[in-house]
Amino acid sequence: MTKLNETHNDRKKRANDYVHEVYELIKKRNPDEKEFLQATREIFDSLRPVFSKHPDYIANGILERITEPERIIIFRVAWEDDQGKVHVNRGFRVQFNSDLGPYKGGIRFHPSVNSSIMKFLAFEQIFKNALTGQPIGAGKGGSDFDPKGKSDREIMRFTQSFITELSRYIGPDTDVPAGDIGVGKREIGYMFGQYNRLKGGYEAGVFTGKDPKHGGSLGRKEATGYGTVYFVEEMLKEAGLSFAGKKVVVSGSGNVSTYAIEKAMQLGATVLACSDSGGYIYDEDGIDLDTIKRLKEVENKRISEYVKEHPGAKYYDDCSAIWSIPCDIALPCATQNEIDEIAARILIANGVIAIGEGANMPCTLEAMAVFHEHKTLFGPAKAANAGGVAVSAMEMSQNSMRLSWTVEEVDERLQTVMKNIYTSCLDAAEEYGHPGNLVMGANIAGFLKVADAMVAHGLS
Ligand code: GLU
Repeated sequence: MTKLNETHNDRKKRANDYVHEVYELIKKRNPDEKEFLQATREIFDSLRPVFSKHPDYIANGILERITEPERIIIFRVAWEDDQGKVHVNRGFRVQFNSDLGPYKGGIRFHPSVNSSIMKFLAFEQIFKNALTGQPIGAGKGGSDFDPKGKSDREIMRFTQSFITELSRYIGPDTDVPAGDIGVGKREIGYMFGQYNRLKGGYEAGVFTGKDPKHGGSLGRKEATGYGTVYFVEEMLKEAGLSFAGKKVVVSGSGNVSTYAIEKAMQLGATVLACSDSGGYIYDEDGIDLDTIKRLKEVENKRISEYVKEHPGAKYYDDCSAIWSIPCDIALPCATQNEIDEIAARILIANGVIAIGEGANMPCTLEAMAVFHEHKTLFGPAKAANAGGVAVSAMEMSQNSMRLSWTVEEVDERLQTVMKNIYTSCLDAAEEYGHPGNLVMGANIAGFLKVADAMVAHGLS
């Protein structure tokens, strides 16, 4: 063995030992945080070649530092329902990393919200936000409040109570929340109103995802879904393929899903199915998006109502079975861990060629391994769904400049961002010895940007 090889092997061993030691430490420190451990595991597995090439990151303790949030705020949210009954929920804001800019990330209202979910989402946001190339750090917030079945006034009272506490910790230059599951422009509107009332001013850039009529950016609502499809189109292009003529299954029926469906259709695909937390609809001639938009965006109804208007379609009350529908492209746009190993194997057996993660961490580690083994084109969430936060950063720019871009201008910028992300992932994967592996590419490219800033900014 040559000396050069020995050095290389020594470095490799040191990198592996380092990654292993830090992961053990994280497991010990966060024993019950299943989703957070899953998200860190995936990143750690990708980063071995990075530490082997850059031992200075080991010397700077980057992995220990990047996995510990700068700050977590946990607070009580008391509110009164329409009958005058008092309820208490738990509020969170994880301010994970501010080396690239103010903390940035959505707020989720869903009964499943807990420390682990908040931390995994904020952790993913670090790399996603870095990949956008924009000056934004990473955070995430939310509450275990369930907006389902609540009146508009109840939503308002809860949201005002939530932001009354959180207002102390956010601001246009410190932490800029946006929407996520259960939080859309209505909730952002209530938060924005309450925040400004408390501050006694008008701080346009403190939230993104605002209504475009009241300070928001055109194209923000569509950005995550469109961006996911733009990213997948890049993967397909590289393989000599495209969305045209493909059969697509999209889970969910919120913002991400709706606009992923719209863009996939615009590019010539047929979308066969979508879902909500109750079940999924399957329309073999292609779903009617206008009906979905009306049911979900205007009437706030369940997806099961769709079949009343489209008798040719079928409704099944098991949303996870959506992945048993044969398709060419699967876009999981609902929530974390919605595709497990079994669903992944069914998709493969049915001939799926590409997966694009519109939701955050929708595939389990085991499902990802199945897709990797079968060389399925795979667009990982941090890269594929970064379009939403990228346009949020554009909303911040427009708010600072006190002007508004046209929807065409925003969309053009979004397309450029998604292409750049795709290229950075591809280049990083190639440079670090795993050509074509976009999971590794996304993790490495995002990590390098933050790690360099952390070294430059000194120990914290
Ligand atoms: N919640 C979205 C995400 O997961 C958007 C965050 C934002 O716009 O700040 O990336």
